[in-house]
Amino acid sequence: MTAVATQNRPGTESAPGPDALKAIQDKIKSCIQCGTCTASCPNEFAMDLTPRHLWRMVLMGDTEDIFASQTFTLCSACYTCSLRCPRGLPLTEAMHDLKQLAAKHKLPRYKASTAFYGHFMDTVRRHGRIRETEFISRYFMTMTPSKPLMPLKYTSMGLKLLRKGKLHIENPFAAPGKQSLEAIFQKVESMEERA
Ligand code: SF4
Ligand code: SF4
Repeated sequence: MTAVATQNRPGTESAPGPDALKAIQDKIKSCIQCGTCTASCPNEFAMDLTPRHLWRMVLMGDTEDIFASQTFTLCSACYTCSLRCPRGLPLTEAMHDLKQLAAKHKLPRYKASTAFYGHFMDTVRRHGRIRETEFISRYFMTMTPSKPLMPLKYTSMGLKLLRKGKLHIENPFAAPGKQSLEAIFQKVESMEERA
């Protein structure tokens, strides 16, 4: 057990079992624990387990520690660790696999990050680009039944982005346009099912 581990932590009861990690373990099994991924990660300062530590937990099959951590949800898929890993391991893909496992098991502690990624990708799928108003409206709709005051936390950031022209007010429920990536998403999904 690691420093962050405690037994039966709330929220980890329905975490996937160690068998669910097999595919990820296969991807990273030649990790030599050199720490280059940790040293390269721009988001490491906010992570509770460093990437190197996380990969050690994965290889040990320690699902309780892994799914008590927010580390993989903070991966912004910049690919720096994948490019720099001396063993050439697909680390960004492995982070994504952990996100998918957490989403599949509907672990309450990951509800916000799962909703965030899900609505972000759905918006890109429907319109071929991110539409901020749609994305954030749908995210708040998912989150406010359990956290009604959540949008207030983002009011000042939203106003700042509006003033700087970084946020565009658009119909949050517009139908998919000509630039919809639906066909591409469907093709990739069918390729993944066959793989
Ligand atoms: S950079 Fe690669 S080999 Fe080094 S600790 Fe990270 S995953 Fe392991
Ligand atoms: S891909 Fe994710 S884990 Fe790797 S360096 Fe970028 S943010 Fe960090």
